[in-house]
Amino acid sequence: MNDDAIALSGPLYDFVVSTILLLTTHNGVYSSPCHQQPGTHPLLTQVDISEGIPKQVSVHFCKQCERYLQPPGTWMQCAFESRELLALCLKKLKGSMNKVRLIDAGFLWTEPHSKRIKTKLTIQKEVMNGAILQQVFVVEFVVLSQMCDDCHRVEAKDFWKAVVQVRQKTQHKKTFYYLEQLLLKHKLHQTALNIKEIHDGLDFYYSSKQHAQKMVDFLQCTVPCRSKTSQRLISHDIHSNTFNYKSTFSIEIVPVCKDNVVCLSPRLAQSLGNFGQVCVCVRVTSTIHLIDPNTLQIAEVDGNTYWRNPFNGLCSPRQLEEFLVMDIDVIRDQKLGSGAGVRSNKHVLAEVWVQKTSEMDTGQQYHCRTFLGHLLNIGDLVLGYDFANSNVNDEYLNKMNPHHVPDVVLIKKSYDRTRRVKRRNWKLQEMARDKEGMDTDDERQYQDFLEDLEEDEALRKNINIYKDTSKIPVESDTDDDGAPRISLAEMLEEMSLNDATGGDGADMMTD
Ligand SMILES: [Zn+2]
Repeated sequence: MNDDAIALSGPLYDFVVSTILLLTTHNGVYSSPCHQQPGTHPLLTQVDISEGIPKQVSVHFCKQCERYLQPPGTWMQCAFESRELLALCLKKLKGSMNKVRLIDAGFLWTEPHSKRIKTKLTIQKEVMNGAILQQVFVVEFVVLSQMCDDCHRVEAKDFWKAVVQVRQKTQHKKTFYYLEQLLLKHKLHQTALNIKEIHDGLDFYYSSKQHAQKMVDFLQCTVPCRSKTSQRLISHDIHSNTFNYKSTFSIEIVPVCKDNVVCLSPRLAQSLGNFGQVCVCVRVTSTIHLIDPNTLQIAEVDGNTYWRNPFNGLCSPRQLEEFLVMDIDVIRDQKLGSGAGVRSNKHVLAEVWVQKTSEMDTGQQYHCRTFLGHLLNIGDLVLGYDFANSNVNDEYLNKMNPHHVPDVVLIKKSYDRTRRVKRRNWKLQEMARDKEGMDTDDERQYQDFLEDLEEDEALRKNINIYKDTSKIPVESDTDDDGAPRISLAEMLEEMSLNDATGGDGADMMTD
């Protein structure tokens, strides 16, 4: 553009640096700019195309870690007068800029301690047939200081007023992984000052008792648990007669996990509709979901019922063994006695003969009933517990007629884990927390949890699943062993943390 062609409008407003009028021919190419005397063309003096774009905007800056807030919740490190900072500023204007075209953007010098960032923007807009107005104007960003959540957390760590201690006495963290996803989805982790992972649970620290109480309320309606509250007097101000307490909420989640085999008390089994005493926990949500592998009957046990009639997992997932299906007979039309409860319509009852893959040389086979009839075929691998050869010490199991205790209880079909990991094109968010050393088994347990989600639609409907764009999908028919997968429709777009440097904001700039 030729400098001579610029027609200054005169100071229509303080923030306007210059305005020029460009004319276009009918094929859309610019002809020479309008050679008007400064301030004479009415369009130049009467039209402000930056109308609606705020000229003073605030940005938030954390002094502790020197980061800027990219709304809604990301804090970004941006150097003074950097491209990143410009993108962050422009993002603030994005909503008001949709009727004009941004041609150029840059910084105007400001004194570094002024707490002001000045930007000079050049925009264009068609004002009449073929006539385009180009305007250069200044937007000032006022830097307000605000402590970011991370710094807040560090600062407040020692000033917590309430702690929620969540515990579960099990050997598997499945329920915790599930709980983590629920908390993330409902953004309940955000009010905590600090979250600490310890061996058998999580501690959530809060600056107020109300926040902690909210967490307790949430837990009580999402997982079967019971709670206890205690408080400790920290200080007493005699002048104002105020008492300063630290409160502790202890939450105990039922010690039963998905894929546990449990033995119910005779009383509880009967009250659930003549349920088998030995049954399998297929899911833990706000209740414990049980299935009877002998009859396909299902039942839910809530927290209150559980604590009145407690039962335990008979074996840990580590004791799961691999079996080969030698023969299978689906049982149709099984008659249930009177007073029996609901039967699952998602499972199929079958009689199977299985052999342990670790005992293939012996020819020893086991017979059992299973609820996996819809999944199993001869030659399939399946995971289960061997009760015929193990010593389980359980109050109710010990009193049972040994003939009613199954030799083997099958839990789930076994698929090639390496292949599943390779093919998994989704991921979960993770809750930031302090860890007191990792258990060596954590990674395997987490994989178990991811597989559970793939296998159980009901479980994953409560949590957010994200596309993993870093995974290149491997698609081949020979590779498909029928392992359950999650459809793309169920996945959310990946959250983008670096929007400002690579996203829409950057598109608005010209170099
Ligand atoms: Zn900070």
